[in-house]
Amino acid sequence: MCIFCKIINNEIPSNIVLENDDFLAFHDINPKAPIHILAIPKKHVESFNDVSPQTMEKMTSFIQDIAKEMNIQDSGYRVITNIGENGGQEVMHLHFHILGGAKLAWTHLSDSNPKDFL
Ligand code: 5GP
Ligand code: ZN
Repeated sequence: MCIFCKIINNEIPSNIVLENDDFLAFHDINPKAPIHILAIPKKHVESFNDVSPQTMEKMTSFIQDIAKEMNIQDSGYRVITNIGENGGQEVMHLHFHILGGAKLAWTHLSDSNPKDFL
């Protein structure tokens, strides 16, 4: 069973922010911003490659609710999902990072040159 399925099953503790029948949101153990929440489907889906449009429709509302719950709706935030090896995905259970609480840096992408990756 994957680490996030263990969190869903309460086999690993987590700091839960929001939950419904389909999704769970909890604080990232290694936050990269003052607010760093992970939103996951309770049904194991490996990555964004495998998620259905129907689940994403509900996930959209869930992420919007997280932003309201954390009071970052108006100040702004960032939603990221890493996919596969090049995307830097480490946990192979679909998750969305919701980052906020401060002006976020955009260093990796704002000034990079595609040629630098070759
Ligand atoms: P990825 O690199 O796969 O997009 O992100 C995985 C995220 O899961 C990382 O930000 C990491 O800190 C977080 N993470 C890994 N294991 C745990 C855990 O056991 N509990 C919590 N709350 N977060 C975790
Ligand atoms: Zn899982």
